[in-house]
This record gives sequence, C-alpha cells and structure tokens, in this order.
Amino acid sequence: RIAAQHGAKVAVAEEYRVGGTCVIRGCVPKKLMVYASQFSEQFEDARGYGWAVTEGAFDWDAFCARRDAEIDRLNEIYITNLTKAGASLVRSRAVVEGPHTVRILSDNRTVSAKYILIATGATPWYDEKVPGIEHVISSNEIFHLPKVPDKLVIAGGGYIGVEFAGIFNGLGANVTLVHRGSEILRGFDEDMRHAVRAGMQDRGVNFIFNRIFSNIEKTSDGLNITLSDGQTLSADHILFAAGRWPHTEGLGLEEVGVTLGDKGAVVVDEESRTSVPSIYAVGDVTDRAALTPVAIREGHAFADTVFGNNRRIMDHATIPTAVFSQPELGTVGLTESEAISTYPSIDVYTASFRPMRTAFLGRNDRIEMKVIVDAETDIVVGVHMVGEGAGELSQILGIAVKMGVKKADFDSTVAVHPTASEEFVTMGAPARQLRREAA
Ligand code: NDP
Repeated sequence: RIAAQHGAKVAVAEEYRVGGTCVIRGCVPKKLMVYASQFSEQFEDARGYGWAVTEGAFDWDAFCARRDAEIDRLNEIYITNLTKAGASLVRSRAVVEGPHTVRILSDNRTVSAKYILIATGATPWYDEKVPGIEHVISSNEIFHLPKVPDKLVIAGGGYIGVEFAGIFNGLGANVTLVHRGSEILRGFDEDMRHAVRAGMQDRGVNFIFNRIFSNIEKTSDGLNITLSDGQTLSADHILFAAGRWPHTEGLGLEEVGVTLGDKGAVVVDEESRTSVPSIYAVGDVTDRAALTPVAIREGHAFADTVFGNNRRIMDHATIPTAVFSQPELGTVGLTESEAISTYPSIDVYTASFRPMRTAFLGRNDRIEMKVIVDAETDIVVGVHMVGEGAGELSQILGIAVKMGVKKADFDSTVAVHPTASEEFVTMGAPARQLRREAA
C-alpha cells in the first residue's frame, strides 16, 4: 500500500486471506478471545460490587460467528485499502525464480519486477521427533475448535502458550501448560515472569515444568500424552506452541542466491535488503523481532527508502511489547539482568500491591511494577509491569523510555489519583542498587 502510494506499480501475491497472521489468525482474534474469556471473572466481580448477576452459559458458536464476521470485515478492509492505493492483488501462492522474476502458481505465469519483497511471515513449528505429533493443533486451528475443550494441554511457555492458557482457562477448560524450562516467558524480566505464572496459577492454570512430550497417542475419547519423565496426561486437544519458524520453505529463495540463516530466516541488512540486491524481506520471515508492529515499520521503511526517496532505517531498539496473559504483562527496555550486564551500576525501583478494584473484592490479584535506572545518568533503561492495564501502559511508557526519560522526570510528574499507574511516579528509594565489580 505504501509503495503504491509512492507511485510504484505493485502486485501482492497472497495464497490465503489478506491482513496477515495477526489479523486473520493471530493478535486480533486472540484479543477478542481474551476479552470473551475475562467475563467469567467479571461476572464474579460484578456480584462483589453489588450486582445481582448470575453467570449464564458461554455460547462458543455465537462468539466464534461474531469473531469470524469481524475478521471477514477486516480482511475486506485490507483488500479495499490495497486496491484504493493502486496495488493489485493476485490470489495465489508465488515462488521466486530469479532476482527479478516471480512465478504465480495459480496460472503458472511469470511476472518480472525491479524489486521483490518477501513478507511471508512465520509458520508453527512442530517437533517431528515426537511420535503422534500429527494429533496436535497449532494456533492456526485453535480458533476453530468445535467447542471449548474440557481438557486442554499446551506445549510451550512463550507468548502463544501463555495467552491461550489464560483464554481457555477463563472459558472453563481445565488447562495444563507443559514447559521445557523452569519458568514461563523466557527473555522477559525474571520477577515479571514469576508474577505472570503466579497469577495464572491463582486463576487455575496447571503447570508442569522441566518436561517435554515424548509420546502422543489417540484414544477412543481423546489424546494421551506421555511426558519425558513417564508421567501421563489426557487431553481433548493439545496446543503445540513451541515457536514459529520463518516461512521460507519452497519459496525458491536459496536457489536464486538469497542467504538463509538459522531456522531458514532470510538474512537482511539494516535496510531489509537480502544478499540479492533486488530482493528485500521484512517481518517474521527475517526473524528479527517477531511482532506485527515491527513488521509494519520495517515494510514502511522499505517502501519509503526504495520508492519514496526517503531513506529510513527501522530502529529495533527499545520496542515496547505486551503479553495478553491473565494477568497481563507490559514491558519496554532492558530486563534487570540485561541492565546489569549493560551498565556498571543500576538502581531498581519496585512496587507490588493489591490494586484497589480487586482488593475491594477480596481477591489476591497483585500488580508488580519495576523501573530500572542507569545510576550514572539517571536514565530509565527498562520499565516492566504485570497486572490490569499493563499492555496499554507499556505503549505510553515506551514513548517516555524512547525519549530518554530520567527517573527524576517520573518523580517530578504529579500522580493521577486513584490509579494503579500512579505508583510509577511515587517510587521512593530503590529496592536494589546493583553495582558491577570493576574488572
Ligand atoms: P515463543 O518463542 O514465544 O515461545 C516458544 C516456547 O516453546 C518457549 O517457551 C520455548 O521454550 C518452547 N520451546 C521451543 N522449542 C521447544 C522444544 N524443542 N521443545 C519444547 N519446548 C520448546 O513462541 P510462540 O509460539 O509462543 O510465539 C511465536 C511468536 O509469535 C513469538 O515469538 C511472538 O513474537 C509472536 N507473538 C506475539 C504476541 C504478542 O505480541 N502479544 C502474541 C502471540 C505471538 P524456551 O523458553 O526454553 O525457549
């Protein structure tokens, strides 16, 4: 769309629906499911606040029909916007045949172009070594289950595993998450990882750590899973969420000289250009930061640079992000362990409290906040939060951190009361002052 708006003659080849994984079978339908699943708790909250509500049954079919209608609407909007900008849409799989040539498989014709952009995303990875792996489903299929399962077992403690554990737990399934490590959400701040897991456990999600699947068997009434320690579990469905790999298989890239790296990712430079100068790649297929807004920015920078006479480089530093787990996690910048290996001295400010809304109900929900400061410059290098609103707040905190906000700026900002986020501007003494030994 952006390239076409710059005047380029553009064709987009798409074999499925338009809008990308995020819109069609990712972030957007997922977030609608998060909202749907939160009502079980909200009915209870309503009663605590004096409303005489009784929890009705959840109608999975009715919800799925509305959700799918919304996705259909968005798919159409993407198509309209492409067409309005003057780009043409080719409803077919395409493969690369040369530095300037693409074959359209539906009618077996070739088209030539000055530039080719690869934006094929990523695809669920399955561990083919596990006997019975063909019985699992991925995040592609989980949206289309015939009903809410009684028992769901999830493999993987990353974004997808954790988010769907919360969703199906909220919808009433018995959920067990099996993770090969000893804590979920590797890569996030340690304290936040623990807080998310504790909050999920509180809500009823079961965890099995330090195990992997060793066998899956279909039985007359579902699936039987054997774990690496011999323990067995039964399930109606297994969501396999052990990562997504760049979607490059069969695209013809290596044959034309495009260098692929780990997991088949397209290797690109800072301008998203591959080893073949006329071929570029953006998004998850490059395995940089696998997040939709990052892919959009990379694509926009490509179009502006190549067609808009405006060289732009996507800045991959300090990307705010959220995990829509229950409780939610929002984050920007360095974790505590990254910060102390980057800066010689850091001050860590924390807040841990029961938020007003749920404390009133007698619930144990906690909000955890952490602000990490480079002690030498007073610059805030990381902000993390677990709890209600964390995703929304991470966007705003992201602006501040990107601007180089100092702890003194937090301190000089007047609190908005009563909110949970006011705790960010009332953090007094650091909880920890970490100093790296001079070498
Ligand atoms: P992640 O990379 O987030 O997590 C994969 C999980 O699977 C990790 O817990 C990992 O363990 C585990 N794992 C990896 N390999 C194996 C293996 N061989 N055996 C057992 N377990 C394994 O991937 P997801 O599939 O959850 O999500 C894919 C991508 O989608 C993410 O990278 C994210 O960028 C994106 N996404 C973003 C969302 C958001 O922004 N809210 C929401 C959903 C997806 P370990 O930690 O030990 O490596």
